[in-house]
Amino acid sequence: MARPLIEWFLGCQRKHLPWRKTKDPYRIWISELMLQQTRVEQAIPYYRRFLKAFPTLPRLAMANQSAVLKVWEGLGYYRRAKYAHEAARIVLKDYRGKLPNNYDDLRALPGFGPYTAAAVMSIAYGKPYAALDGNASRVLSRLFILQEDPTTADAKRRRTEILQGMMRGSDPSTFTQALIELGALLCSPRSPRCSECPIQESCSAFRYLPDPAVLPIRKERKKKPHYNVSAGILERDGRILLKKRPNTGLLANFWEFPGGKQLANRSREETCRIRFKSETGIEIRITDKICVVKHEFTHFRITVHFYTVACQKSPSPKGTARWIRKGSLKRLPFNLVSKAGLEAYERKK
Ligand code: SF4
Repeated sequence: MARPLIEWFLGCQRKHLPWRKTKDPYRIWISELMLQQTRVEQAIPYYRRFLKAFPTLPRLAMANQSAVLKVWEGLGYYRRAKYAHEAARIVLKDYRGKLPNNYDDLRALPGFGPYTAAAVMSIAYGKPYAALDGNASRVLSRLFILQEDPTTADAKRRRTEILQGMMRGSDPSTFTQALIELGALLCSPRSPRCSECPIQESCSAFRYLPDPAVLPIRKERKKKPHYNVSAGILERDGRILLKKRPNTGLLANFWEFPGGKQLANRSREETCRIRFKSETGIEIRITDKICVVKHEFTHFRITVHFYTVACQKSPSPKGTARWIRKGSLKRLPFNLVSKAGLEAYERKK
């Protein structure tokens, strides 16, 4: 089935995707990183912006982390940006700035999982490594009526072996992109367009199932927990008080407004005062409510209640809290929820 698939791809692929115009392993790698957990159309402007700021791997390696996070700001899953930066530094030091042309060496770099390493090996270097992403996995589930949960290690191993066999005799770069493109354009999760599919004749789900979309079998998703958070915006003499997040974990090294999770048996305002003081050492009073911002992370949802707050004098903050000149904010990586709070604050002033 490789031939009709590749012919279809050469005629029908989305030619406007910027990463389709390059074989530069660095650029392919950045595109693959950005496309994890992100829609193609959303990733395109970030991809362009990132490569304008860091056109080569050595330029990325030599940048400081804050500048890298700033360019990634808004794309989410910031660990990808941190890994890209760390991996670029290692590649500059150990491989003279060129991504290794070897699967095991790639896998040893930060952020290179089996998919990313195989995608770089096949798409950029033309080596026969099976890159199994969600699109490819869905197409395989339907082609061969694979009924197991595709997220288990066994299912991934089995599918990778099948894929490895399928790509034999084809150009690995074109084959990998073609299968992923088929999953994205025709063999979509809810309504596959089988009548336009170039490999319809080989597809068991098309032949034997009334509705191929029943595959892959989806696990029922657990409901995400929800947290209320209160945060305070304190401004004095053209400076805003912000707090830097720890350098590991969620939104590592991003800046945000001081505050925290709702305390039991306390109002939102009291929570804001208490959390603000414990994070900055500064005693505040609430002056106004600004806005409510909702946001969904991978494992939980939050609703942040923003307040304008005031204090007696300009005390020195403790911990990682700092007074930041408003003009400098655009150079700092700022989390999206805090950004929405700041915009509402500026509108209300
Ligand atoms: Fe997917 Fe339909 Fe093509 Fe089968 S025939 S691979 S279900 S689009």
